[in-house]
Amino acid sequence: MSIKVGIVGYGTIGKRVADGVAASPGMEVAGVTGRRYACKMDIARQRGYPVYVAPDGASEFQDRGFEVGGTMEDLCEEADIIVDATPSKVPAQNMPLYEAKGVKAIVQGGEDHALTGFSFSSLANYEEALNREHARVVSCNTTGLSRLISTLDGAYGVENVFVTLIRRAADPKESKKGPINAVKPVMGVSHHGPDVMTVMPHINIYSMAVAVPHTLSHVHTLRVRLETPPTKRELVELFDSTPRIVLRKGKEGFSDTAQIAEYYRDFRPRYDMPELFIWDEPLDVVDNYAYIMANVHQESIVVPENIDCIKAMCGMETDKMKAIYETDKALGIAKDKRCYT
Ligand code: NAD
Repeated sequence: MSIKVGIVGYGTIGKRVADGVAASPGMEVAGVTGRRYACKMDIARQRGYPVYVAPDGASEFQDRGFEVGGTMEDLCEEADIIVDATPSKVPAQNMPLYEAKGVKAIVQGGEDHALTGFSFSSLANYEEALNREHARVVSCNTTGLSRLISTLDGAYGVENVFVTLIRRAADPKESKKGPINAVKPVMGVSHHGPDVMTVMPHINIYSMAVAVPHTLSHVHTLRVRLETPPTKRELVELFDSTPRIVLRKGKEGFSDTAQIAEYYRDFRPRYDMPELFIWDEPLDVVDNYAYIMANVHQESIVVPENIDCIKAMCGMETDKMKAIYETDKALGIAKDKRCYT
């Protein structure tokens, strides 16, 4: 029997998670919500996703030939689990409905950890999500950091981390956000380090961040102190054999964020890159420190984690690496099977 997944909020993350669910064996899209008609809902219809709308918006959809499945309340009855990908603070308003309907719910990184009391990142804590009622899939930046740091911690032991995040100002579709001609620092420690600790409380991490006029991706530069430092070659082998991490050379055509996006435009729909991209040339190990520079495609990196989180919460798969492998195959990002042991 297929797990029925309701998607509340059909925006940047919601539409990608819906496609990920549709591509995954053992689960199906029970429906997606739309408040008012917008052209993106035509795509949902084309893809066969039932549409659930607010009562006062139903006629607008019906006039355009949509078969409306019902309201968001109806979707909660239809679905086994909801992925809430509405803007920050809306999921907190929706949570009482999910609880009243007895439907499991996943919220996104824009919410506070306290809303669900559990923050998820597949490689770091898959097992802790098994059969839970509520979970928060951490943000794009925290997902990238958690993948990387949990991998290093498992292999060499992480003593501490310093990271600077160069953050995209807005997603490509957002025309009203800035800065457009400034580099805007966070005045003090950024929230990203503390957010990593919601997933891995034992990690000692300090983070600083600036926002820049750019929409394609975030860039992270890290200095990680390791208990038993590897050679650079061993680090390359570790990343090459880790799911959802791609290590490539700048000189092969990935010399900046625009070149990465250009490659993925040809390679994947929507130029999505759910993998964490690490540049080979800046990668270095000096004394006990690893120096790493990584690129995070903010719009897609959390999609595999949402699919894994559904699997864990619904008890579809108890084995972390089996779950990750099946998700990666469904999303077309799988590495060699040996990377999943
Ligand atoms: P978005 O604005 O692209 O999409 C949100 C969707 O929710 C829109 O379709 C909007 O119409 C709908 N919506 C708004 N208010 C609603 C309401 N009251 N009820 C139902 N639907 C409503 O937002 P997004 O970028 O997809 O972000 C969603 C969540 O994902 C946030 O927590 C965000 O922090 C997180 N996230 C975003 C990114 C990113 O780069 N965009 C990356 C990782 C995580």
